Amino acid sequence: MSQPQQALQLVLFRDDLRTVDHPALHAARDAGDTVALYILDEQSPGIRPLGGAARWWLHQALLSLRESLDDLGIPLILRRGPAARILAELSQDGNLDEVHWNRRYGEAERAVDAELKLQLRGDGIAAHSYSAALLHEPWELLTQNGTGYKVFTPFYNSLRAQELRPPLPAPAPQQRQGFPLPPSESLDDWKLLPTTPDWSEGLAATWTPGEPAAQKRLAETLSSIAQDYAEHHDRPDLDGTSALSPALRWGHLSAHQVWDELSKYAVHSPGAAQGAAAMRRQVAWRDFCWHLNYHHPQLPTENLRSEFDDFAWAWPADGDEVAEKVARWQRGQTGFGLVDAGMAQLWRTGWMHNRVRMVTASLLVKNLAVHWKVGEQWFWDTLVDADVACNSANWQWVAGSGADASPYFRVFNPELQAKKFDPRGSYVARYAPLAAEPLVDLKESREQALEAYSEMKLRQGK
Ligand code: FAD
Repeated sequence: MSQPQQALQLVLFRDDLRTVDHPALHAARDAGDTVALYILDEQSPGIRPLGGAARWWLHQALLSLRESLDDLGIPLILRRGPAARILAELSQDGNLDEVHWNRRYGEAERAVDAELKLQLRGDGIAAHSYSAALLHEPWELLTQNGTGYKVFTPFYNSLRAQELRPPLPAPAPQQRQGFPLPPSESLDDWKLLPTTPDWSEGLAATWTPGEPAAQKRLAETLSSIAQDYAEHHDRPDLDGTSALSPALRWGHLSAHQVWDELSKYAVHSPGAAQGAAAMRRQVAWRDFCWHLNYHHPQLPTENLRSEFDDFAWAWPADGDEVAEKVARWQRGQTGFGLVDAGMAQLWRTGWMHNRVRMVTASLLVKNLAVHWKVGEQWFWDTLVDADVACNSANWQWVAGSGADASPYFRVFNPELQAKKFDPRGSYVARYAPLAAEPLVDLKESREQALEAYSEMKLRQGK
């Protein structure tokens, strides 16, 4: 007589590629023998395909996750395709007991997960979802009118007033039982890494994707960055920020872990308290962007302030003048040192300092009058921390079309910004030592931008 097959707990990994503070993994291990599954799903409706830098990161991150899970005795299965189809295939094998995942908050992702729950239930398999990615669920922090916050400061005050759960430890290792495993695909077959040409050298020289490196970076942040963060975080020349954004984007660390470590660190000294508070505030911006995206799912694709639908943005078309300007912006050949250094840093390392992101974005949307979605897409393709909510919320913030946005008339002057935030010019010298011919006249293009804004308001009778 054949042995009855052992029922398995399945954990779906998505943007939470870690073992510590992973509620779904924790619950699965408590319930029984666990198998982990990562689905490369670029086919379910509305799912945005990853950009090039993100694909590179994902490849390395999955190798690292496999090692961490191996240490816990948990096998990692890789499959590619629509999540509903993959789960249906695994359910048919008949030895799935329960499925666990941490929640996602994008509209398309929520729709996929809701479908999955129904489908699994139909197959007699329980599905459990957990809160893990954000400090608070988007439906937990609401204004008195019961709507999501559109302004950061009251959002932050409300966030701070709520209790946070402590992070969970990694689950206990399991003895490998030799249970039959669902078939796995080969990561190499997914071809996530660039080949022709291979532009990933700078990324590999800058980053080590995965949970162990992220934990190390968090420790380094506490020992050498946090103390002066309040003073240094706006200075691209000082490496004064955590550079934890890819770790948070891919979930190698949870926001809870970062927040918790910063809170513990804050009691070290008065300077520590100030630095930790300033950094916690930034971590809360990430939550804010995701809450916005939850309550306004059109955030990545449409102006939050609909009056900007009428703005005379320029769009590039094959070979035209706008396309040429966009290409020079992308290549870091605008002639403005801080912008060119930022775009070079982005291309080389897949990351850019926040202050410089604001300045480069402002040049594109205001001085060059190009639609923010053009810049958002370039960042989406090139950032290792490319994150649907944070990217679009910040682009809309700079463009003036977003919630709690920088007012449209605030046009960053890249030369003044360079003087203030890169006073010795060392950041520019590091990434863009050769100055190109200026692409636009700053004063004239600023006036044109403000005029276009006034015309928009006049057309709308304001
Ligand atoms: P730190 O200053 O050390 O902050 C700690 C953490 O707080 C960050 O890792 C990040 O998770 C979060 N954070 C900080 N600032 C912001 C912010 N303004 N909005 C949301 N979260 C924030 N961030 C992304 O993670 N992904 C993106 O795709 C992205 N696109 C951006 C596009 C533009 C045009 C702009 C202006 C900003 C964008 N940001 C994005 C926000 C910000 O620039 C990065 O999070 C930050 O530069 C990451 O560096 P750090 O980890 O050293 O940040």
